[in-house]
Amino acid sequence: MNFTKFPRRGYLQGQTPIEPMKNLSKALGGKVNLYVKRDDLLPGASGGNKTRKLDFCIADALEKGADTIITCGAVQSNHCRLTASWAAKEGLECHLVLEERVKGTFKEDASGNNFLFELLNVKTRRCVAGGSDMMAEMEKTAEELRAAGKKPYIVPGGASNPIGALGYAACAEEMMNQLNTMDLSIDHVVVPSGSAGTHAGMITGMVGTNSGIAVSGINVSRTKEVQEEIVHGLAEKTAELLGVKGGVAKEDVCCYGDYVGPGYSLPTEGMIEAVKLFAKEEAILLDPVYTGKVAAGLIDLVRKGAFPEGSNVLFLHTGGSPALYAYLDTFRG
Ligand SMILES: *Cc1c(COP(=O)(O)O)cnc(C)c1O
Repeated sequence: MNFTKFPRRGYLQGQTPIEPMKNLSKALGGKVNLYVKRDDLLPGASGGNKTRKLDFCIADALEKGADTIITCGAVQSNHCRLTASWAAKEGLECHLVLEERVKGTFKEDASGNNFLFELLNVKTRRCVAGGSDMMAEMEKTAEELRAAGKKPYIVPGGASNPIGALGYAACAEEMMNQLNTMDLSIDHVVVPSGSAGTHAGMITGMVGTNSGIAVSGINVSRTKEVQEEIVHGLAEKTAELLGVKGGVAKEDVCCYGDYVGPGYSLPTEGMIEAVKLFAKEEAILLDPVYTGKVAAGLIDLVRKGAFPEGSNVLFLHTGGSPALYAYLDTFRG
């Protein structure tokens, strides 16, 4: 894979660590060896996976002469926080359209990521009802900004277009280089599957590096079938952009839809257990919306014996811990 064909801002500052999770592996019975790739430690305010995607998306925006970034997300969006973060660093204006996916959850003075939007100098935050056409809403904002003489650039939700997904194809290559250097043979990689750029990019990169390692996505909002369709579509487009010969086969895409619970961002018992267990055993902070549910899936799969005994399983930690501070009642209650 050749990433030098694409403009990039160089946000990464080296590789994120791959660490064994010995305590957690033991606590879960010791039959599977768990590892974690710490993308929660990526640069950008409070870290997380969107930095890898924005490395390419913001470069594209600057190449196109933008002076303003518009993006969208849920009311506690990590993607919006990181977009605001890199916009601040680049001296670009940042405008957000927030989708109130759960009615009554947008609070102007809420903690967590919402508070960070303010600190990171977001110019406007406009909240729209759940189910709105977010691209159309962002276009409205762009129209207003153009009328005011600005040059806006729209980053789609989660930066999950083929340009953003390049960030996770590059992550797959980074990970393979690390594993080869460590001489660590991983049997299975488990990633979150939300707006799908992370999962689709990772699969594209694993195919592009001929790694032979299975990747499973754990859904945070959709059913298995719907999500697999979305991930495969984006992986195909990413493979085409990157020139990965043969593309990505449908069989390479595997999603679990059993850990969403009542819906996106709504707590589950498994999530609460996972957040507490990772903190207690590994001093790793997960988040209630994404990685907590993904880890709940991982824990359940280990307990059910879904991975053969002695397997090495790597969990991609995509960040999100600022959202914990908007969910204190969930963890204390
Ligand atoms: C956005 C996000 C994800 C999901 O990544 P997608 O590329 O949207 O599927 C996972 N974890 C965290 C913390 C996120 O912010």
